[in-house]
Parts: sequence; structure tokens; C-alpha cells
Amino acid sequence: MARYINAVCRLCRREGEKLFLKGTKCNTQKCPITKRAYAPGQHGSNKPKLSNYGLQLREKQKVKRIYGVLEKQFRRYFTLASKSKGVTGKVLLQILERRLDNAIFRVGFAVSRAQARQIVRHNLVQLNSRRVNIPSCLISAGDIIQIKSKENAQKKIRENLELSKDRGIPSWLEPDTKELKAKVLRLPEKEDIQQPIEEQLIVELYSK
Ligand code: SF4
Repeated sequence: MARYINAVCRLCRREGEKLFLKGTKCNTQKCPITKRAYAPGQHGSNKPKLSNYGLQLREKQKVKRIYGVLEKQFRRYFTLASKSKGVTGKVLLQILERRLDNAIFRVGFAVSRAQARQIVRHNLVQLNSRRVNIPSCLISAGDIIQIKSKENAQKKIRENLELSKDRGIPSWLEPDTKELKAKVLRLPEKEDIQQPIEEQLIVELYSK
């Protein structure tokens, strides 16, 4: 499985905004965006005016980076969304939110989506009482996500819950922090996404 392994703060700097890729560290003074809110590299501080295409491209890159998805998979999600009956942009965001790693992050079992991915890859998660180790697995309404692991791993998850408590839990998920499980009450909507995303720009980009 291909994944991005370089410094993630560069990605935020490239997009010129906080993408919250490092969990709790993102809310500290150490966040490079607070000091260097311009693109990395030698010419990063020259901010050219973006064309329409540039704006569309940046929005697509931003969303891919927020969810930790690479181009091929993102394109697959777009194709899936465009074939659905709903509004393509909204369905695309819904698919991204329905990823298992995203749900683990949104419910507070992990401090970042990258950590949530690791939790899933390490076989610590059950979906409807069956072990799942595929972070991109899409969840549906009524599903039950549960952390099933040894005591020390559970301790870490509880620490994550404590660290994430100010982030808020979206209304489409119902956590049970005692049992370390969560129920998917309904499918997520665009309004449930915390970060501002202009999905129409992505639709325009891929529709060229
Ligand atoms: Fe982005 Fe977080 Fe790094 Fe700040 S600390 S640049 S928000 S990943």
C-alpha cells in the first residue's frame, strides 16, 4: 500500500492552512504554519495569483492530504461518486468521511487520521464483531466499530480520547467510551465536516 512518508507539515505549508495532520501537536506554538505560512522550498514565499485551474488543483490536493488518500484512490472515489444518484461533490466527501480510519479519528480513538490508520493496520479494530485491518473500508449506518486489543493498547486509546475531547464528536457517530466502541447512527453529511472544503472545485477539475 503506497503512502506519503515525508514531513507532513510541508503539506500544510503548501496549502497555506492548517490541515491538522499531526494531532495534538497542531494546536501548539510549534506548528510551522504559525511562523511560516507559505509554501516550502526556495521560492515558496513568492505567492503567485492562482488561475482557476490552480484553485481547483489546490482544493483537490488539500482534501487528499486531509484524508491521507493518494491520487489513484481519490480518483476511484470520484468515479464512484459521479456514478451515484446524489450530488457528486457531496457524495465524494461522504465517501471520504465513511472511511474506517476517518471514523476512528472522528470519534476520538486516535489523535490524527494517520494514527487511526495505524490502529486499524495493527488489527486493533473490529467492525460488526469482525476484525478489519483495511483503513479505507467504508462504514455504513448501523455499523458498530469496536477497539479490541490488549490492556496497554486500550490504555493508549483512552489517552487519545482524553486528548481529543475538545475536538467534538460528529452527530453521525455515537461513542461508548467505556466499552471503546462507536455506533454509526447515519451517513455523514457535508455539514459534519469540520474543515472548510469547496468540493465543487474538485468536481470542476475532474470534469474537464
Ligand atoms: Fe499542519 Fe499540524 Fe504540522 Fe501545523 S503541526 S503544519 S497543522 S501538520
